[in-house]
Amino acid sequence: MGVYAVTGSASGMGRAVADKLRAGGHTVIGVDLREADVVADLSTARGREQAVREVLAASGDRLDGAVLAAGLGPAPGKDRPRLIAEVNYFGVVDLLEGWRDALAAAGNAKVVVFSSNSTTVTPAVPRRTVGAFLRGDVERAVSSVRMFGKTSPAIIYAGSKIAVSRWVRRSAVQPEWAGAGIRLNALAPGAIMTPLLETQLATPSEAKAIRSFPVPVGGFGDAGQLGDWVVFMLSDAADFLCGSVVFVDGGSDAYFRADDW
Ligand code: NAD
Repeated sequence: MGVYAVTGSASGMGRAVADKLRAGGHTVIGVDLREADVVADLSTARGREQAVREVLAASGDRLDGAVLAAGLGPAPGKDRPRLIAEVNYFGVVDLLEGWRDALAAAGNAKVVVFSSNSTTVTPAVPRRTVGAFLRGDVERAVSSVRMFGKTSPAIIYAGSKIAVSRWVRRSAVQPEWAGAGIRLNALAPGAIMTPLLETQLATPSEAKAIRSFPVPVGGFGDAGQLGDWVVFMLSDAADFLCGSVVFVDGGSDAYFRADDW
């Protein structure tokens, strides 16, 4: 049985993953703002350092895997773009860099990062936003979307998920990751019924956009099923999966990009 760090373990898909791993006999070190083994605020550098430190202490510096599910959706609000940037990008990259040696110590660790199908279905995400994230420049990432006004949370949300997916793919193939036995992959869900989506559906302007968005199989995804995908991507079946972004989105990505292959 393994030891897994799971961020966003108090709600939605992170919670579904934590429940399934525990039910399978594994040890889970949950990280969240509340109701977690490690209560830490991933929107600050200090909170991220605390999460790194406390998870390493709780795991004895050895992790069989990590699931990075903490994230904020594109809700309205003046400070929202910064929070999205801090949690969705730096709340993944800073933690994984801090846990890398502990993951390597397991010899065959698996990591699943939550991306989103917003990476391929959101138009007009500036290149400089993604570039700023990858350079670690949160100020530039936030200022680069200011011109979008009310839609800036949606743009920086997609930008944060594009950047984190690119970071996963770039890092996954490096000697420090693939060469250290760590399998780094991302899962890109579509609209999944969780508190995050419920909040968006409670905002009339967002609800209209979400409900009219093309989903070939119809409806919304189920958090438990996404949890099953993560557990699969943590299993030995994923030994040969490296740097992949797996879309589980009811067909929206295929609908828009069928010919991009
Ligand atoms: P959720 O809101 O149900 O859960 C997210 C969790 O992250 C919450 O428990 C929350 O407390 C935690 N979190 C937020 N800010 C934090 C902070 N500063 N520090 C620590 N923890 C924090 O959301 P969900 O729908 O389960 O989303 C999980 C992941 O999947 C997110 O990364 C999200 O962007 C992504 N995603 C969700 C959907 C969807 O439709 N639900 C679609 C695509 C991608």
